[in-house]
Amino acid sequence: MSVLVLVEHSQGVFKKKSLEAVQYAAHVAKELGTSVTAVAVGNVDNAAMQGLGAYGANKVLHTTESRLENFNSRAYTKVMLAAAQKESAKVIVGLHDTVGKAVSPRLAARLKAGMVAGAVGYPDLSKGFVVKKNVFSGKAFAFVNVTSDVKVITLMPNTFQVVKGEGSATVENLDIAFDDKDFSIQVKEVSKASGSVPLSEAELVVSGGRGLKGPENWHVLEGLAKELGAALACSRPVADSHWRPHHEHVGQTGGTIRPNLYIAVGISGAIQHLAGVNGSKTIVVINKDAEAPFFSAANYGVLGDALEVIPKLTEAVKRFKANH
Ligand SMILES: Cc1cc2nc3c(=O)[nH]c(=O)nc-3n(C[C@H](O)[C@H](O)[C@H](O)COP(=O)(O)OP(=O)(O)OC[C@H]3O[C@@H](n4cnc5c(N)ncnc54)[C@H](O)[C@@H]3O)c2cc1C
Repeated sequence: MSVLVLVEHSQGVFKKKSLEAVQYAAHVAKELGTSVTAVAVGNVDNAAMQGLGAYGANKVLHTTESRLENFNSRAYTKVMLAAAQKESAKVIVGLHDTVGKAVSPRLAARLKAGMVAGAVGYPDLSKGFVVKKNVFSGKAFAFVNVTSDVKVITLMPNTFQVVKGEGSATVENLDIAFDDKDFSIQVKEVSKASGSVPLSEAELVVSGGRGLKGPENWHVLEGLAKELGAALACSRPVADSHWRPHHEHVGQTGGTIRPNLYIAVGISGAIQHLAGVNGSKTIVVINKDAEAPFFSAANYGVLGDALEVIPKLTEAVKRFKANH
């Protein structure tokens, strides 16, 4: 019996959210008195896999195949199913992201497992196997008791701080006999979003809305984001108007993020926008309308014209950095 966790990497480097998932799995495994097996797919070297031990993995099962270089939900499910059976896994952890949302429900169906999607807390074993999750676009929480023998959880990224510890994981090959049916749908090309910090993993995010008036003013936000080392995001109308690329759009129909700091500039705070950002630890709203609904969701608010406030804020960040 073990706790299984699917880990994702980008060109051989494990993503921060996957380290968080391993850490989460390690916590669950400790509570259950068992070990953690991570499952890595594709081209990644041994040292990187052994390094998952520092986040709580005891073992890594590795499977590689040229057709697995691009994500394929059917083939990944087959890998996870084989790993779950090999390890007699009782709890399987994935991320509440594109990969986890595609693989975990398929896996749960195959294993007749109960599933919690979008967990934001550890299972409470004193009451069964009760997991806290977001509902109603993050406006409320539900506490779900999973009573099936095997349990599948997808963890909301950025829920827990990642802390590196000690240790090294053993690595084993997981040989799978794939057939063409497993690859009946194939990803032909992947265009990577540019930008130094991936939005889904960013701890600091600077986000702009229609209040910025047009794409020609975005350099102001870019300047602040650069000084802070933050990722850029935007509201949906901004992406729909092609002021910014769609991968920056956050909200109900865009990405869901949970950074430590979310700075919302010229965004009204519609419920559909809040759905994607209200898990942020600290929200700062900059808006020229005192009645903007976003202020009621903010930890800090600045009432003023974004095009005057942001350059001053950027200068203040520069001064702060120069003196510290
Ligand atoms: C089914 C559905 C799904 C949706 N999904 C999403 C989603 O995923 N994400 C999303 O963002 N929206 C989504 N929307 C749209 C959402 O309802 C809002 O229309 C949208 O979020 C508004 O974007 P905004 O705040 O940028 O623009 P606006 O509502 O136009 O607000 C602009 C804000 O900027 C302020 N402002 C203006 N000028 C300045 C200035 N110079 N300085 C400072 N502040 C200024 C204004 O006071 C105002 O508060 C969805 C809507 C529907 C119906």
